[in-house]
Amino acid sequence: MRLPRPPTLPEPRRAALRRLRKPGTQDVLDDALVLWLPGPNTETGEDMAELHLHGGRAVVAAVLDALGKLPGLRPAEAGEFTRRAFENGRLDLTAVEGLADLVFAETEAQRAQAMRQYRGLLGERAESWRQRLIGALALIEARIDFSDEADVPEDLIGPALRAARELLEEIEQTLRDAHRGERLREGLVVAIAGPPNAGKSSLLNRLARREAAIVSPYAGTTRDVIEVHLDLGGYPVTLLDTAGVRESDDPVEQEGVRRARARAEAADLVLWVEEAGKVGVSDGRNESKNRWIVHNKIDLLHPSTTPVVESGGTFQISALTSKGVDGLVAALASYAADYFQIGESILVTRQRHRKALHETADALNRALAAPADQEELVAEELRLAARALGRLMGRVDVEDILDVIFRDFCIGK
Ligand code: GDP
Repeated sequence: MRLPRPPTLPEPRRAALRRLRKPGTQDVLDDALVLWLPGPNTETGEDMAELHLHGGRAVVAAVLDALGKLPGLRPAEAGEFTRRAFENGRLDLTAVEGLADLVFAETEAQRAQAMRQYRGLLGERAESWRQRLIGALALIEARIDFSDEADVPEDLIGPALRAARELLEEIEQTLRDAHRGERLREGLVVAIAGPPNAGKSSLLNRLARREAAIVSPYAGTTRDVIEVHLDLGGYPVTLLDTAGVRESDDPVEQEGVRRARARAEAADLVLWVEEAGKVGVSDGRNESKNRWIVHNKIDLLHPSTTPVVESGGTFQISALTSKGVDGLVAALASYAADYFQIGESILVTRQRHRKALHETADALNRALAAPADQEELVAEELRLAARALGRLMGRVDVEDILDVIFRDFCIGK
């Protein structure tokens, strides 16, 4: 794209103050800081210009309008800058995903993980694995191509297989991460469950410190699952309130009930809320799950009734007066910290990464299991392994996944 060349183009990469005028009329639109960034060392690899305007809506609109009237100019589509950066080889696919995660990161731990991915933690590792694979492959191909020539060493297969075995071990080690990277992206899901009127919505409100759920003195007024996102000590925690989950004759509601149950049952932790005076009416569901018992409404207990303090995982609270809630929050925060235990070394943050690495490992396993004299077979499996790593970085077979990944970007940059 070619813009009319202004008489005084700023120095590359130097901010310059320029008066912006409407093409044709010469009306002054704004005094702006202008940056001229010639490619290829730019975000997208292409020539770029930046206009830093005074932030008013009308100023921005007027300048965009004037730009839009220039031939060949149009607003970028969602994710287009990143897409171009990817297509021009400035970012590999794992970095693009890291950038998407960075934009959506809600907590500090998510931000740090996204940043590592954006800066190429997985991409660079995958590239070095691929280089080593290609090295091993070259040994085997040399063996195949020059097998009759006397000066080619007999044992090229041995070193190639040794390299493949080392690689396999590193990849398997990477995959033994208890899915912590994916977990951190998704957050810890905590379902609040228990009999009607026990105070589940009230507790959720307390925890969220805002009026997120409808609190009502009548049983079962919350229709759907209410979801609140919390940042506990830098870790993402999603609270689900299933207060309104109850049987219904309406097929639409039945479907809602079914979904609500399924979500709550898939939760990582259940807070089972009961009224402190009416303990013992739990229906036994979720027994096998990780479940904490919360005795609510302790403000209603007669002062002489000492609440039974049970061992671990049982909390005495009042959602009304807030008593005991801080202790529950602290326990949740420390549970989240244990649950994520995220290390600098976590490489896999998406199912897509895991799948590609499993495919790589499977091909390496097949290569290692091949009979020793079957060089062609070994070479083919190593090629498949390299291809799976190429897929991970978005170098090959990307057409069908690109739209899915770039659709996640809802911003134009
Ligand atoms: P849910 O059906 O389990 O979601 O229960 P709600 O949160 O809607 O609460 C039911 C009723 O109990 C409401 O009238 C709340 O104000 C009341 N409630 C909730 N928590 C407490 C509490 O800790 N103490 C007292 N006294 N009342 C509470």
